[in-house]
Amino acid sequence: MRGIFLMILGAIMVIFFSWTIICFFLGIFTGFIGFLVFLYGLIASDRPPVHRPAPPQHGTQPPPGPNPVSRYCPYCGQNIPQDSRVCPYCGGDQ
Ligand SMILES: [Zn+2]
Repeated sequence: MRGIFLMILGAIMVIFFSWTIICFFLGIFTGFIGFLVFLYGLIASDRPPVHRPAPPQHGTQPPPGPNPVSRYCPYCGQNIPQDSRVCPYCGGDQ
């Protein structure tokens, strides 16, 4: 009966020893991976954003100004078409 007790106790101690070794190497592995993740995050945080707003391109759009196909009514001041003979807003002759 005494031998069985010592055998179980020794087996438990061996299991504890094995678990300690496993945790030791697992901790080194996870620590190394965590260090790499930390360095990657440190580098990625300093990287400028990929999607940068494009600078405005000059020359592609017509310059802002009065619409050449429209004019203003001298009576009411509304913007009316160039080819209209009567103002659609006030009815004044153009
Ligand atoms: Zn008018």
